[in-house]
Amino acid sequence: MKTEVTHDQLLIGIGVSPGIAIGRALLLHRPTDVSPERNIAPDEVADEIQRLRDAITLSRQQLETVRRQAEEHPTPEPGLIIDAHLLILDDIMLVSETSTTIERDLVDAETALRRTLLRVRHLFAAIEDEYLRERRSDVEFVGQRILRNLIGYQEHLLQEISEQVILVAHDLSPADTLQLDRNKILAFVTDAGGRTSHTAILARSMGIPAIVGLESVTQLVSQGLPLIVDGTTGMIVIHPSAESFRDYLQRKQQYEYATQELELLRDLPAQTVDGYELLLRANLDAPADIPLARKSGANGVGLMRTEFLFMNRTIPPSEDEQFQVYKDMVEAMAPASVMIRTLDVGGDKLVDHIDLAGEANPALGLRAIRFSLKEEVLFRTQLRAILRASAFGKVRLAFPMISGIEELRACRAHLRGAMDELSVRHQPFDPALEVGIVVETPSAALLAALIAREVDFFSVGTNDLIQYCLAVDRGNEHLAYLYDPLHPAILRALQLICTAGKNAGIPVGMCGEMASDPLYIAVLIALGFTELSMNPGDILRMKRALRLSRKDRSDALLATLLTLPTGAEIRHLLEDVMQTSFPDLFPPPEI
Ligand code: PEP
Ligand code: MG
Repeated sequence: MKTEVTHDQLLIGIGVSPGIAIGRALLLHRPTDVSPERNIAPDEVADEIQRLRDAITLSRQQLETVRRQAEEHPTPEPGLIIDAHLLILDDIMLVSETSTTIERDLVDAETALRRTLLRVRHLFAAIEDEYLRERRSDVEFVGQRILRNLIGYQEHLLQEISEQVILVAHDLSPADTLQLDRNKILAFVTDAGGRTSHTAILARSMGIPAIVGLESVTQLVSQGLPLIVDGTTGMIVIHPSAESFRDYLQRKQQYEYATQELELLRDLPAQTVDGYELLLRANLDAPADIPLARKSGANGVGLMRTEFLFMNRTIPPSEDEQFQVYKDMVEAMAPASVMIRTLDVGGDKLVDHIDLAGEANPALGLRAIRFSLKEEVLFRTQLRAILRASAFGKVRLAFPMISGIEELRACRAHLRGAMDELSVRHQPFDPALEVGIVVETPSAALLAALIAREVDFFSVGTNDLIQYCLAVDRGNEHLAYLYDPLHPAILRALQLICTAGKNAGIPVGMCGEMASDPLYIAVLIALGFTELSMNPGDILRMKRALRLSRKDRSDALLATLLTLPTGAEIRHLLEDVMQTSFPDLFPPPEI
C-alpha cells in the first residue's frame, strides 16, 4: 500500500543562530544507548575498572585534539568550553562512583557509567537555575564520549560527511559542533538544548543556522528527507512542497543578499551624508553574545541589563561571580566602553529569590533603583563588582528608573561607599568612571536640565519612558495601539532630554527599542542624540539608514513633525517622507 507523503509539516523550536538553510537531513545516530546491560563475575571487576580508565584516557586525548583545533577559532569561547569538558573528565565522582557501581552491582563499565549519568541527570533536573541546569549537558556530553570509547565506536562520522546536509541530532556536544565543517553542514537542528546552551553559543559564533529544543525532530525526520531550516524564526519545514521550497529559496537569497550588503558597512563610519556622527552600540546581556556585537561593528556596549544574572536561581550571584561576568564583557569590548546598568527587577521582571509578589501596581512599585536602594547589601555588592570590572576597561555605570535628584544622590553615596570598601581591600577600580542614568520616568525627563548637572551621561530608556509618559502598560497587547514612540508628547519629552544634555555638555544616548527602527532615524538625528544602542542584529540596518540621511533635512523634517497634533499624523508624514526619500529602505506597502 502506498502511503501519502505529507508536505510542509511545521515544527517550531528555539532559533539560536539566524539564517535559512535548505537541504537534506542527515540523522546522527549514536550507538551509546543501545548496548545491553551485562553482569560480570567478581574476578572481572578489576578489568572493567581498567577499561573505564582506558576509555577516560582516550577521551582526554580526543578532547585535547579538539582543544588544539579550537585555538584556531577567532573567539576564545570554544577553547574555554573544551577546557570545562576536560575538567569534568578529571572529576573523581565520574570515576569513583562508576568504579563503585562496577564492584558493588557486578555490572560492566558501560552499565555502571550509564547509571552514574542517570544520577547526574536527576541531580541536575532538581536545579532551578536555568544556566546551571544547562550545564548538565556538558557532563552528559563527556559521559557519552566515554561511553562511545568503551563501546569502541569510532569518531568518524562528522569528519566523513561528504555532501552538504542539515544535521539532525538528539543533541550535539560543543566538541561535535566545533568539528562541523561550515561548507558541509548547512544547518543543524536538535531535540535538546536551550538558548544558553554552549552548542547554541558556538553555532552563533560559527555562523551556522541552528534550531534547538525541538523535542521530537529526530523522531519526525528520516534520513535524507528534505528540510527547510529558518534559524531566525526557529521554524523547520519538513518535506517542503514545491511552493514552500520556492518561497524559502527566495527568502534565503534575500536574507543572504541583505546580510552581505549590510556587512560591507561594518567598518564604515556611522555618520550622515553631511557628517553628523552617531555612536552605534550593542545591547548585550551576556559575554556569550560578544561575537555578535563584533560582527555588527558595534562601538562598545550601550546597555548591559544585569537582571539576567539574577534570574532563575535561588540565591543572588556573589560579588565575585558578577565581577567575572562584567570583567569578561569589559575586557572583550576594550577600548570601547560598556554601559552596565544596575539591577532592574520588579515590574514585569520577576526574580525567584526576590519576593515582590503582592504589589497591586508592580510597574509603579518597588522596581529597579527603588529596590536597590532598599536592599542595600545587594546594591553595594553589585556596585563593588562593577567597580572592580572598571579596572579592566572603560565602564559606564547607569542607574535605572531614577525619578528625582534625591535618588541619584543616594546612589552616588552608595557608590562612594563601595569605592571606600574596595580601597580598604586594596582592590583596583577606575575612580573616574562615568556615572549616568537611564532616563525613563516622566519626572526625570522634566527635570533633565537639573539632573544633567549631576551626571556624566543620559541614556533614554524609551520602552519605559513611553509606558510611563502615556500611562500605557508596555506589555498589554490590547493597548498596543496607544503605545506610540511618535506621540507628540514623547517627541517633546525626548526634545527636553536632548536639549538638557546638550546644554550641560553631556552625551545623550538611547537604549530603548525606538533606537533600532530605521523609520525613526531622521527624528533621532534631529533631536540630537549622540549614541544609539540596540540589539546587535539591528545595528547595520540602522547604520545604512544613518549613512543615507542628512542632518539638515532631518532638522527640517522634525520641525514640521512637531507642528502636528497627533501621533497618527506624525507617523503618516514621516512614513511618506521616508518612503519617498529612501525607496530601497522603505518600500511602499503592497497594494
Ligand atoms: C527601557 O526602558 O527602554 C530600557 C532600555 O530598559 P528595559 O527595557 O530593560 O526596561
Ligand atoms: Mg526600562
